[in-house]
Amino acid sequence: MSPPPLLLAKAHYPVTALGPGTRAGIWTQGCTLHCRGCLSRDTWDADPGKAVPVDAVLGWLASLPGPVDGVTVSGGEPFQQPAALEALLAGIRAWRDDRRHETIAMDILVYSGYVYSRLSGSGTTRRILDLCDAVIAGPYVDRLNPEGRHPEGGSLLWRGSANQRIVPLSPLGRERYGAPEDAGEMAEGAGPRVQVAVDEGPEGRRVYYIGIPRRGDMEHLTSRLERAGVRSGDVSWRP
Ligand code: SF4
Repeated sequence: MSPPPLLLAKAHYPVTALGPGTRAGIWTQGCTLHCRGCLSRDTWDADPGKAVPVDAVLGWLASLPGPVDGVTVSGGEPFQQPAALEALLAGIRAWRDDRRHETIAMDILVYSGYVYSRLSGSGTTRRILDLCDAVIAGPYVDRLNPEGRHPEGGSLLWRGSANQRIVPLSPLGRERYGAPEDAGEMAEGAGPRVQVAVDEGPEGRRVYYIGIPRRGDMEHLTSRLERAGVRSGDVSWRP
């Protein structure tokens, strides 16, 4: 039986701000958690018009020119589509197994607004976790997204707020996410990074910001753009 389609907000390559290396990014559509201060309000609506076959997403992945050091799945809330998410991750794992000749391993990182104890507590989500190398789990809490560096000394790197937990789930996950604050290029001084992407779609040109901005960064950016005469229009981080 074929899996249900995936509600997909967008897919992008290359992504360099959500996990180590050069990655493919897949954002699911639909989230009922509605964290205060969420920067991705455009992904909240579970719009059936955004449904795409899982195989189409896997075909897009297979068509990428490379390198692909990893795949990041974010949202929206990916775990609110468990059957489609499981099929997607199983497909990514199969694709990874076919690429064993590649010299650089490819990891699978999934973001969730649910805390890890909830994700690991049910059979369905446990099966999904078994397909991941790491998850970043927990709701976004705006006041725990410091303006500047993390009070404990390092930056939050791939986390949006300090309550979120990076949980490695495989040897590769432990290697890449075990102690990210101390890891190579992400060490002292690196801080959160944001990447800009432009999409020419049927509704016109859209600018995406990919990554983990610090609290207030997006408002600063839009006000600076407006001062320079660039109107931001609809943005995903305001009601
Ligand atoms: S931060 Fe993530 S989990 Fe929270 S409302 Fe936004 S999309 Fe949903």
